Amino acid sequence: MISVVLFDLDDTLFAHRRAVEDGVVAHLKSLTELPGPFDEGAEATRWTALEEKHYTRYLGGELDYLGQRHARARDFMEPYGITFADNLAAETWFEDYLAHYRAAWTLHDDAVPMLAALRGLRLGIITNGVTHFQQPKLDVLGLTPWFEHIVTSGDFGAVKPDPSIFLHACDLFGVSPASAAYVGDRLNTDAIGAAAAGLAGVWVNRGGAASAEEVRSAAASGVHTITTLAELPPLLAAL
Ligand SMILES: [Mg+2]
Repeated sequence: MISVVLFDLDDTLFAHRRAVEDGVVAHLKSLTELPGPFDEGAEATRWTALEEKHYTRYLGGELDYLGQRHARARDFMEPYGITFADNLAAETWFEDYLAHYRAAWTLHDDAVPMLAALRGLRLGIITNGVTHFQQPKLDVLGLTPWFEHIVTSGDFGAVKPDPSIFLHACDLFGVSPASAAYVGDRLNTDAIGAAAAGLAGVWVNRGGAASAEEVRSAAASGVHTITTLAELPPLLAAL
């Protein structure tokens, strides 16, 4: 019987990818030194790939938090022949990008209706990131009141899929892992990681867009798969 439901934030409840892509396109359009028009879709994809690359390096301890920002800014602007004189210049560029990113913040449409449908269950967040960056998303988008505990890897000191962060969240709620479910968009980091810690792992394969290989891997790993958050309340009721 599940009594606690824990969620990933980015791209599970919060439409992170959409905000990143809209934000970087708006940022590029605002740069007066840019030498002409650009392919919006291609640049959004390139920025997303650089985020994945350098944020992964940060999570692995290879770069610090600001270092991954500066690396992303430098790599992204290099093809335009724009270089940054120092870290301060890269940070200023990144802060300007963040203003555009924040202006593009939205929740996935299925998030709040799903939370409302889970009435009676205790809810929490486990997110890989730093609190001062993640908490404002929850506050600005009105999510904070839904959650009893919000765990960030930055405060806790370990990142998903390390079992310790899932077990820490269960401890905060005072429940055993078997009484908790974890819901997230990343198969290995979220669903399989949670299942390895003893929680019910739920993978959000949003819109069924994942590769056939990932779908096979999910089936073989014993996690539950949903394609929209609307499927979560009936799934939990059946567990
Ligand atoms: Mg996510």
